[in-house]
Order: sequence, then C-alpha cells, then structure tokens
Amino acid sequence: MKCTVCGSESCEILKSKGRLTKELLLKCNKCGNIFREVVEVEKPIEVRVVVSEYESSHKTSVKLYPDEFLEFEGVLDLDGRPAEITSIENKRSGRVMFAPVTEIDTIWANYIDTPARVGISVDFGGKILSRKVEVDREFEFTIGDIVKLGHVLFKIRGIKTQERKMRKGFAKAFVVKRIYGKPGDDLKRYKYDLTSKIIEVVTVPNVVEYDE
Ligand SMILES: [Zn+2]
Repeated sequence: MKCTVCGSESCEILKSKGRLTKELLLKCNKCGNIFREVVEVEKPIEVRVVVSEYESSHKTSVKLYPDEFLEFEGVLDLDGRPAEITSIENKRSGRVMFAPVTEIDTIWANYIDTPARVGISVDFGGKILSRKVEVDREFEFTIGDIVKLGHVLFKIRGIKTQERKMRKGFAKAFVVKRIYGKPGDDLKRYKYDLTSKIIEVVTVPNVVEYDE
C-alpha cells in the first residue's frame, strides 16, 4: 500500500469491502491523499484429514487459512462436526505437536460428538461373555467397580486402553478399548448398570459368545 501521490507506505484504512479480494479506501498519513487499492486476500488451503469414528476411518479435508496454526488435541470443524486432532504429520513426514497450516501434510482426528464405544469381556471360567456398550466419553471406569450387564454382575479386573493394559486405577471411556471382568457369587450391589448401553454389533470376529 503506497500513496499514489507521495509514495509513503504509511496509510490508514478508511473503508474495506469484499471477501476474496478486498477493495480498500486509504488515506496517506503523510500527505493526506485519499486513494483506492484492491488487494488479494489469502485463500484458504485444503488440508488432508483422516478422521476416525469408532473402528473405521475415512479421508476428508478441511479448509484452513495459511496463517493459521494447528496443535495436537486442537478441535477442528469437519463439515459441521467437531473432531479432535490426534496427530499432525508435516511435509517432511514427521509427527509434530504443533505446525503452521502451510507445513501440514495430513491431520489425524477423531470425531468427538459421538459416545465412546467400549468392549466388555466377562470371563466365566473360559467362556467369555462379550458385549459392546456406548457410554458418555467422560464416563470413568475404575478397577474394582461392580457392574450390572443384563442378568450378570461382574467386577472390573482389567482395563485395556489405546496404550496399555491396566490392573489398577481408572480410565475415561474415550481411551478405553475393552473392560475385563469376572462374575462372582459374592457380588451383590452394583455401582452402575450398563444394560441399556449395550449396542448390537453385527460382526465380532474371534469372540466366543456366552449363552445365558
Ligand atoms: Zn501521500
């Protein structure tokens, strides 16, 4: 932005209109000349996204402005649905926690508007009762909890998360892959009932179903 009379680059914007190209009305701070200038606005660029929903994932893209930055665990709007960034790969094939949009090759994300889907395996001495439940993402499973599932009461003995197997402590549902439990005659009072949270799963490979 240079004054058309004196060439000064110190100008004040009086008016601005337009989206993809902006038409500016400028006033020179040095000589007071008023002039118009049209500037190109930086266009959003399309960035590749691999988004997961439960066990499946698909490719999509998101439009972002080149002067934006993204970071791990940031939330994106993917066609109107919120998704949390789980990984960022830059153009040098490195996984980074933080990157300017112009250096990003692929974003990995998870939709966060869906409940968490958790597998439950209850071991009846070799026969496994296996179910899937959908619970609030923030729901906490704790080792030792007594849970009702249909006609069965079981105690949580183990929790498998995305990273590890736990034998003590607790985990939020959105990181839990599977809960391992054992029934017991001594179990009377349950902490919560997951019966209404059971979902129908069409195919579950490698799981022995327990007949009640
Ligand atoms: Zn001027």
